[in-house]
Amino acid sequence: MPKLTLQNRELVIEIEKVERIRRTAKTRIALCQQCGSKCDFVDLVKIAALFESAPCKFLDAVRANGCHISTNEQGVQICVTSFLALLRRGSVGKDLSLECSDNSS
Ligand SMILES: [Zn+2]
Repeated sequence: MPKLTLQNRELVIEIEKVERIRRTAKTRIALCQQCGSKCDFVDLVKIAALFESAPCKFLDAVRANGCHISTNEQGVQICVTSFLALLRRGSVGKDLSLECSDNSS
């Protein structure tokens, strides 16, 4: 039987998995002044939590991308119609990271 002379090497396999995560947030209907029609609005804190983003960072990012933003006694409200349009335009990365540049530094 032939004798093997073995040299140490390494086999590396990378497997990319697609993970589907479903999260929900309650919305409420109101007249969006910018859309000119009734739209669903979602609370900033709740939608930022869906994307695991800090509310202030999320707000900066959606504001920078022209999302319709209103306020009421419960806080900042995001127009879902304009936010979905933003997602469709691809203005937000596929990984939904809403990081935006920090000009304060
Ligand atoms: Zn709107």
